[in-house]
Amino acid sequence: MAKSSETEHPVKAFGWAARDTSGLLSPFKFSRRETGEKDVRLKVLYCGICHSDLHMIKNEWGITSYPVVPGHEIVGVVTEVGSKVEKVKVGDNVGIGCLVGSCGSCESCCDDLENHCAKQVLTYGSPYFDGTMTHGGYSESMNLPLDSGAPLLCAGITTYSPLKYFALDKPGTKVGVVGLGGLGHLAVKLAKAFGAHVTVISTSESKKKEALEKLGADSFLISRDPEQLQGAMSSLDGIIDTVSATHAVAPLLGLLKPNGKLVMVGGPEKPLEVPVFPLLMGRKILAGSNIGGLKETQEMLDFAAKHNITADVEVISMDYVNTAMERLLKSDVRYRFVIDVANTLKME
Ligand code: NAP
Ligand code: ZN
Ligand code: ZN
Repeated sequence: MAKSSETEHPVKAFGWAARDTSGLLSPFKFSRRETGEKDVRLKVLYCGICHSDLHMIKNEWGITSYPVVPGHEIVGVVTEVGSKVEKVKVGDNVGIGCLVGSCGSCESCCDDLENHCAKQVLTYGSPYFDGTMTHGGYSESMNLPLDSGAPLLCAGITTYSPLKYFALDKPGTKVGVVGLGGLGHLAVKLAKAFGAHVTVISTSESKKKEALEKLGADSFLISRDPEQLQGAMSSLDGIIDTVSATHAVAPLLGLLKPNGKLVMVGGPEKPLEVPVFPLLMGRKILAGSNIGGLKETQEMLDFAAKHNITADVEVISMDYVNTAMERLLKSDVRYRFVIDVANTLKME
């Protein structure tokens, strides 16, 4: 008989899980494996709420297996290390992003692109090498295999990587950021630190002042105002699209200069409509990008530290998480919810 998630491993664990497509989170007892020789065990201190968590708890991408303990923007303090761990010691602060495993030997892994590995193991809701399901950071403890153990948080690397790859990191480059949420506000800060000229393309007039005065954006367009878009036609070298819901692509293609690139990082539930002619005219590129590899994640963290870039966060308690999800759906957060796991997760 299959073991239950509460007894399949020796170490008792506790977190909050969603049980069905309502996405409602509630306390959940499960278990984690014993700390392996290359594992680092950590006490979770804080965990960010990514919109991907919201897609996942409601099974909007059709890949969720319940119960699911979300959370892939995790920072914690190391409480135990395996015998073969050299780079990390007890008491160190560490971070975990979207990946906790990959094959280590395919072409992508050898190129430091573990995010493209076909055998990648996601931080939660993904079968681990031993066949059990992984559980994320809305819980009190984690095991981090050291081979994927560099800090690799989500929102920063997801926007840093395409800015670099698509050469939007050059001073003076005209960069657009669509959707000023968790990913979008970091995209603005990173692009500004690269020296780009940044235009935010948003549905929220209420975010304008802050985007220009606090986040450092150079210009702000309301995406539902055709006149504003018309005035900015053919002005951008590239756009990072972080929108989490269905939206029109054609006007964004219109904002690009010839040879401009529209890079999708948001993951709307339903397919988007792409008219071909605006792509053909001006030889434009429509592309996508998914987090980043471990090496680039470390590079991103170093870059962020050098430029003093952190997320703007609203710290919440664990029992506020369902309200936070409702607010996230309404784009009502400036700009990332972070759960104070260590101080507010009440063990049962
Ligand atoms: P978020 O904080 O909710 O931000 C999304 C933003 O999109 C909102 O703040 C809003 O900005 C805009 N938006 C929302 N609904 C919209 C609509 N109907 N039409 C137009 N704009 C709309 O979410 P996030 O955590 O940044 O994540 C964004 C997306 O990226 C999610 O789909 C997530 O799953 C995905 N993601 C992908 C990767 C990857 O590796 N590719 C990694 C992480 C997340 P305004 O108020 O400014 O309009
Ligand atoms: Zn994420
Ligand atoms: Zn691989």
